[in-house]
Amino acid sequence: MLKGKVALITGSTSGIGLATAHVLAEHGVNIVLHGLLDDEAGRQLAEQFNQQYQINTLFNNADIRQPSAIANLIEQTQQTLGDIDILVNNAGIQHTERVEHFPPNKWDDIIAINLSSAFHLIQQTLPMMSKNNWGRIINIASVHGLVASKNKAAYCAAKHGLIGLTKVVALENAELGITANSICPGWVDTPLINHQIKEIAEQKQLTIEQAKYDLITAKQPLPEMMDPRQIGEFIVFLCSDAARSITGASLPMDGAWTAQ
Ligand code: NAD
Repeated sequence: MLKGKVALITGSTSGIGLATAHVLAEHGVNIVLHGLLDDEAGRQLAEQFNQQYQINTLFNNADIRQPSAIANLIEQTQQTLGDIDILVNNAGIQHTERVEHFPPNKWDDIIAINLSSAFHLIQQTLPMMSKNNWGRIINIASVHGLVASKNKAAYCAAKHGLIGLTKVVALENAELGITANSICPGWVDTPLINHQIKEIAEQKQLTIEQAKYDLITAKQPLPEMMDPRQIGEFIVFLCSDAARSITGASLPMDGAWTAQ
């Protein structure tokens, strides 16, 4: 079904993005592996994908805070792999602090990486998708695109914004065979949340395992973290023909967090 399509997954050198790259590659999708790895490590990762899945890959380590780096990423993708069919806006960072102490440069970075990069990437990818009358845009938002938590001003602002952007893109492209959806995960077992776990362990004198459990169950009824591959499998479904009417949606995968 998806064999030979081209997917650009931002932040696919780690966590959810990397797991999604593996799942899409298993379906024969050609992949742009993107993230902040050095050239040699990135080359090795791409080579591993080529051998394991017999697909075409490209590695790119554009810092997506810079619109010019995004333009180069798009240009290199089109020249190497062709038009982008599937765009997964996944790269993201976190910083937790009360608003009055929140460093302005962290605010700027989070808005640039978690929100503005998606705008630039969508804008430059849509012409390829509309030309081909098929496209799937999947934005990795968060439960924090739907509800807030203390100390996450920039992250919540960016993720709420990403959900708004997704809805507009879905409306504007509904007749062109292009869907746009946000996935809103609860806790996922990736390096992004290690700092929050360590902080709880230190503050409450807990082991890392105890702190992890404490963090999960503070808000999420399902007392376990998601495996990032679960998100990759869901993205495969969103790319399928069965999901062609799902567009403009904010889809929680959150262990009932936002059901409360
Ligand atoms: P991660 O830290 O494992 O991976 C983040 C990726 O983003 C890496 O590949 C990194 O290189 C890339 N990246 C960071 N800054 C970048 C920059 N300036 N330029 C280019 N690439 C950059 O994190 P993850 O948990 O896999 O997060 C992926 C997405 O999922 C994020 O948008 C995050 O907000 C979202 N999310 C995560 C969780 C969770 O519990 N882990 C929950 C909800 C949503």
